[in-house]
Amino acid sequence: MPDIHARLSASGAKKWINCPGSIQLEENFEDKPSEFAQEGTNAHALGEAKIRLATKEYNRTKYHNAIRNIDITEDMEDYAEGYKNFVIERYNSALRKTPDAILMLEQRLDFSNYVPDGFGTGDAVIIANGKLEIIDLKYGKGVEVSAVENPQLRLYALGAYEAFDMLYGIEKVTMTIYQPRLDNISSESITAAKLLEWGETVKKAAQLANDDSVTDCIAGSHCDTGFCKARPACRAYTAEKQRLAVYDFKAPALLTTEEIADVLDQSAAIKKWAELVSDYALDQAYKHGVQYPGFKVVEGRSNRKYSKPDTEVAKILTDKGYSEDDIMVSKIKGITDIEKLLGKKTFSDILGPYIMKPPGKPTLVHSEDKRPAISSAEQAQEDFKNDIN
Ligand code: SF4
Repeated sequence: MPDIHARLSASGAKKWINCPGSIQLEENFEDKPSEFAQEGTNAHALGEAKIRLATKEYNRTKYHNAIRNIDITEDMEDYAEGYKNFVIERYNSALRKTPDAILMLEQRLDFSNYVPDGFGTGDAVIIANGKLEIIDLKYGKGVEVSAVENPQLRLYALGAYEAFDMLYGIEKVTMTIYQPRLDNISSESITAAKLLEWGETVKKAAQLANDDSVTDCIAGSHCDTGFCKARPACRAYTAEKQRLAVYDFKAPALLTTEEIADVLDQSAAIKKWAELVSDYALDQAYKHGVQYPGFKVVEGRSNRKYSKPDTEVAKILTDKGYSEDDIMVSKIKGITDIEKLLGKKTFSDILGPYIMKPPGKPTLVHSEDKRPAISSAEQAQEDFKNDIN
């Protein structure tokens, strides 16, 4: 769950660890409520209730009361069920080794010994003799989140370590991201000693970030992955994006392969930056009357649409003698909708043999991308020739 009150939040830790000036600069920008935040909150509440039912902490009545006011989509039901199964499986595994292992849900974790006023909420915390595991449900599907060297999870782990080490003598710490909508389960295990050592470096970074006399802004990948609110107006971020200006708009054929790789590396970030600046300027101009020389706010283009529901429009036309064939289009629903209607298993039983996935258009991506590289067309022809010879 998001930690919303601490000035130096755990979810923003990657940002303030790398850029001490970001805390102050971001304070000049409003928080924009995310349309997906409520969905994430609902998924967490449903997952939590399912686990409490599975561990018999809730009976059926309590469970239904807990989920009564949650807006649950069918997808969410499946994803929360998967999360529940995952947590229970991890808990059972801990119980097999330590019969008095404990599972805590939505546990407040206080790491203020490392970060001023720092706290967060651990979605699922499992503690057994010598071992601690933090499981964090991420319901978003925009960006795949890794648990490796993830400062948010490490700060939560520090909070849990401080609270439970005395009782359980924690030596090993595992931090896991469960991100069902991207089929992503990512884990990192480190020794408690390494966690504490990391905690000391973060303590220094947190002091720096919390010090209002420190205004150094240092740009890097954390600006985008940390969704820094200051990006549209941050000079350090802008300077980083302008790095490509050294190529002076040379034709691609005049650039070296290394220079082209550099442009490829930066182009998505520059596109994103231009969008950020554009959205920020529109917001400032429309809501706050800021005038940008040479620009004005107008109504965007829009398409005509019926002012009444389709059924009413259809009736108007059939009353005038037009046939349904002339005015209606009938087509089968898309795969996602049919799968929702049938459920995954029935869908697979009935339609599995009739589903195909055509090869995607060749796309140049960063070498860290998980998809395997494909051969070029020429290479494929060569391979084919070699196969038949
Ligand atoms: S955009 Fe980047 S450099 Fe600028 S304040 Fe935010 S994190 Fe720091």
